[in-house]
Amino acid sequence: MSAYNQDNTFVSNIVSLPLLGLLMLLQIIVQLPSLSVLLFLLFCPGVQAAAPELSFSDVSFDIFNIFIQSTFSSKISLSTVLMLLFTITGNTDLLNLHARQQNSQFSYEQKRDSSPWMNSLARAIQRQTNKRKLKTLFKKKEISEDLMGEESKEMLSIKLNSFANLLGLNSFGPNGELIQKLAPVSNHDIQPILVLCPTSYECMDIECQSRSLLLWTRQQQIPEVTLIKGIKIFKRVSVLTGHCPKCKAVYAVDHETYGPPNARKKTYLNDAQYFKVGQSTYVDCVFSNAVLNGIYNFHASTAAYAEF
Ligand SMILES: [Zn+2]
Repeated sequence: MSAYNQDNTFVSNIVSLPLLGLLMLLQIIVQLPSLSVLLFLLFCPGVQAAAPELSFSDVSFDIFNIFIQSTFSSKISLSTVLMLLFTITGNTDLLNLHARQQNSQFSYEQKRDSSPWMNSLARAIQRQTNKRKLKTLFKKKEISEDLMGEESKEMLSIKLNSFANLLGLNSFGPNGELIQKLAPVSNHDIQPILVLCPTSYECMDIECQSRSLLLWTRQQQIPEVTLIKGIKIFKRVSVLTGHCPKCKAVYAVDHETYGPPNARKKTYLNDAQYFKVGQSTYVDCVFSNAVLNGIYNFHASTAAYAEF
C-alpha cells in the first residue's frame, strides 16, 4: 500500500500501517470538539493551579550541600539524596501531623522532638532501601549493628526532621505558633526542559557509513510545541530535525524522509517515542495508549470516548 500526501511526498506505509492508522486516529480524536475543549482546559494554567500548592524550596545549593555533607555519609549517592528530597517534599500531610505533635498547644499535650509520624516515614525508608544505600544515611560513628532497628529509625527520623526544616517545610514557627498548614509541594519549578529529537543519531543508510546527523532546523526557526507526556503537559517544547549531508535523508521525531528529490519517501517510525498529532501538539506512547485503550473500552467509538 502506498499514497501521496499533501506535499507530494510518497508515503510508504507497508511496514508502518498500524502506526499510520494510530496517528490518523489520534489526529481525529484531538480534533473532536469536545476533546478539544478538554485539552484546552488541561492547557489552561488557571485549571492546573486550582489547588493551592507550595513552591519548591529555593534553598541555595551551597547550603543544601553543607547540610548533606554534615548529616549523611560522604558516600551517599545522588540518587539517595534525591530519593530523600522527594520523600520529604511528597509527604507534606505527614509533615503537618509531625509538626503539630512537636508543638504542643495545650497543657495536656506532650512536647516532643520526634513523633510517631516521622518515625513511620523513617521506617518506610528503612524497609524500602537496600542495605548498601541505607548505610550511607548515617555517619560512620552513627552506624548501629542493626540498620533496621529502633535506634537507627529514631536517628533517621531526626535527620528527616532536619531535612524538612532545611527545605522550609515546617508549619510551626520557632515559638511553637502555627504559621500555615503545608500544602502539597509543586514540582513546576523542577520540570525538565524537553527538546524532541530524532531517535537515530547517525544515518541508517549503509552507503553513508554511519555519518553523523546535522541539525536541519535553523536556530531561529525551531518550532515550539505542546507535548503531552503521560498525564503531564509540557509547553514550549523545541522540536529538532536532523539530516544526512550525503544522502539528504531527513530524520524527524516520528518519521524519516529519504530518496531522490522527485520521489521522496516518508516512513513513520515504529519505535518513535513521541508522535505529532496536531499542528503543534505531540503526544507520547503512554498518552496514545491510554486514548486507544479508552476507545477500546468504549467499544471503538471515538465520539463516546471524547464525550467521556
Ligand atoms: Zn545518509
